[in-house]
Amino acid sequence: MDNNSENIDKLKQEFIANASHELKTPVTSIQLAVETAITALENSELEDTRKFLNQILKDSQRMTLLLSDLLDLSQLEVNNPIKEIVNLKNIVEAEIGYLSEENKKRVNFESVDIDFLIDPDDFSMIVRNLLRNACNYSEQNKKIDVNLFFDNSEIALSIRDRGRGISKADQDRIFERFYRVDKGRSRALGGTGIGLSIVKHAVERNNGDIQVKSNLGEGSEFIVKFFNT
Ligand code: ADP
Repeated sequence: MDNNSENIDKLKQEFIANASHELKTPVTSIQLAVETAITALENSELEDTRKFLNQILKDSQRMTLLLSDLLDLSQLEVNNPIKEIVNLKNIVEAEIGYLSEENKKRVNFESVDIDFLIDPDDFSMIVRNLLRNACNYSEQNKKIDVNLFFDNSEIALSIRDRGRGISKADQDRIFERFYRVDKGRSRALGGTGIGLSIVKHAVERNNGDIQVKSNLGEGSEFIVKFFNT
């Protein structure tokens, strides 16, 4: 086996180990919560039963999110992009529409009308994951700016939050699969650790480029650019 195939093999093994670990945690927690809920029910402790049933609900929601991110990632790896001319403004608007009512109110969206040749599912994935992070990593009372504009010969999408920001050292690593700056915080927010690797993959296979600008404590801006050919 040459060096390159060995590296790919190692990456695959690491990925399977990480994904299995991420799935095992909620499954173990569910098993424990079911056992405890049964005991609580047998002792007619309704409050405790409710508490553990809620824990089971939370863990299964976490698994659903992780599985849906893993499916997005495998779709990106297995299928080629299917490009069509779409209105990018409409796609961003639709993704903002899927946010919770509180988060929707925080978003300030400005856009020119742009028809562009791209895989629409990929573009939705990009917007959805960047919006999710902007909402998760900034406080509820902080605004989020979303801008879609022409930048010379390029089309740019900027999503800027006023949240906790990302250190320079972490900026180099956040696009790696399963890399999280703060594991506990990401998990508590329902993060899977693969959102940005999905974004990077989807951007690059549509010949785009992604950059992050951030200062700790001031917020982060993710800028995605596509050549307007
Ligand atoms: P996660 O599901 O944990 O959010 P991502 O791959 O989307 O995973 O992001 C990787 C890590 O990058 C996150 O765990 C978080 O620490 C950091 N991060 C991503 N977006 C932001 C942001 N807008 N502000 C601050 N930190 C961020």
